[in-house]
Amino acid sequence: MRNAFFFVLVIILFSSCEEWNIKTYNVPSEFQPYVDKFKTDAKKYGYNFDDKGLIVRFADLDNNIAGLAYYKRNPILIEIDREYWASASNTKNAHDIKENLLFHELGHGFLQRMHDNTVLANGDWKTIMCGDKLPNDRASNINYRGFRKAYYIEELFTRTNDTPAWSTLIPQFDNIDENVILQQDFSSGSDWTIGSNSLYESSIENGAYTFTTKTSQAFYVLNKGTLNTSNDFYIEVRLKASAGLDDSFGLVCGSFNDGNTPTSLHYFYQKGNNHMYIGESECLGPFIDLYTEILHPNEFNTFAIRKYNNMLYYYINDTFIYHNDLDEIINMYGSQIGFKIPGNSTLYVDYAEVRENSTGLKKRNTTELSVEKATEKKVIHWNK
Ligand SMILES: [Zn+2]
Repeated sequence: MRNAFFFVLVIILFSSCEEWNIKTYNVPSEFQPYVDKFKTDAKKYGYNFDDKGLIVRFADLDNNIAGLAYYKRNPILIEIDREYWASASNTKNAHDIKENLLFHELGHGFLQRMHDNTVLANGDWKTIMCGDKLPNDRASNINYRGFRKAYYIEELFTRTNDTPAWSTLIPQFDNIDENVILQQDFSSGSDWTIGSNSLYESSIENGAYTFTTKTSQAFYVLNKGTLNTSNDFYIEVRLKASAGLDDSFGLVCGSFNDGNTPTSLHYFYQKGNNHMYIGESECLGPFIDLYTEILHPNEFNTFAIRKYNNMLYYYINDTFIYHNDLDEIINMYGSQIGFKIPGNSTLYVDYAEVRENSTGLKKRNTTELSVEKATEKKVIHWNK
């Protein structure tokens, strides 16, 4: 009886505070700017949702669900996971990834869009409406910023099948004026730390730089001062790692505790045998989780990053695979270049070469070598 009484009470409480009608509009201030933006953008494409009811609320959602839309209700109800929102708030790209999530859920609710996991030629998702079980176990991350953002908004409202030009770009870099500023084949010396302590051990073995982590702690091994990342540059390394399939390893550049400048390390990581993560350490997970079959499993692969005209271009084994822009939010600072090694793993680097635009700033700091604990945000496959 007690249970029955309690149950009835709960029903009464729920019904008394959820007296919604078709016009009910209840959007907390955290979500309001994104809902307003959605409505403004919608008008450009001939929709008007000004008089529609809408309820958005925080919830504790299971299974790494970032947001849910109850689109068959009237008014539609959107629930946003508290943990996701808090994690996103703590990042450099907070505004864009929050807008991305709200637009996805409003796409279900107002536009009656279902999930669509089509992939563009360059590996980007065709639409921010990707979701559910994603092909090749990829993350649903959308590089929703910079030159891509206008396309994703247009696609959301129009379902266009037009191919964005950036998705088929093959960049050409002929006659670039640059100088080699670091060339290391590890036959005798190293431009990265050699040594050992209770957490790691690094040395040169058989012409390769090797770095072994002795615990679950991941590390960045960094050369600071050689590269000036405010100039255009090209970094190429050939590496492999004995790492768990869920761990990521690879190339990093930019700033990391670099004097007083912000922490901001760009990365280009291999995860498992077929995934590449491209991102920046202060953002929530990678910009994109690419699936590729050009990696040689368990063998050396060549990773390269070119910075040119405020754009970053990424290459695997001499094949261009992706590019994205730098801007005032996601910029590049500092002078660090190096590697990330996951815990309980060994990284092997066969060679490294760095070239820098010879017309840029010549001033250099003294080169310092350092090993720092990797402090990236944990990569979670969020569902939407
Ligand atoms: Zn969805």
